[in-house]
Amino acid sequence: MSLLRYHLGRQSGPGGPAIGIKAMTHDVTESLVLEWLRNHHGKAYCSDSIARELKQDVGLIRPVMSKLVFAQHAYWAGHCDCGNRGFKHGR
Ligand SMILES: [Zn+2]
Repeated sequence: MSLLRYHLGRQSGPGGPAIGIKAMTHDVTESLVLEWLRNHHGKAYCSDSIARELKQDVGLIRPVMSKLVFAQHAYWAGHCDCGNRGFKHGR
């Protein structure tokens, strides 16, 4: 089960519902965040640090990070190097 794949799949396919720019941006941001955390498995990052690394607006990253609370068993709370609370992929 991959949230990333779910979002990519939802965007593809002819005749699907039109997707607004805002929703699409949000999905892309979510995909970027989840991919970043998976690529840095076991290391926690806060919204600010991910926003900096991905060169994204932290306002787009925060809502994605807050959703990870509900993705337990895949994403776990932890402390970022900068001292803020963040999330990591895996324990
Ligand atoms: Zn940080």
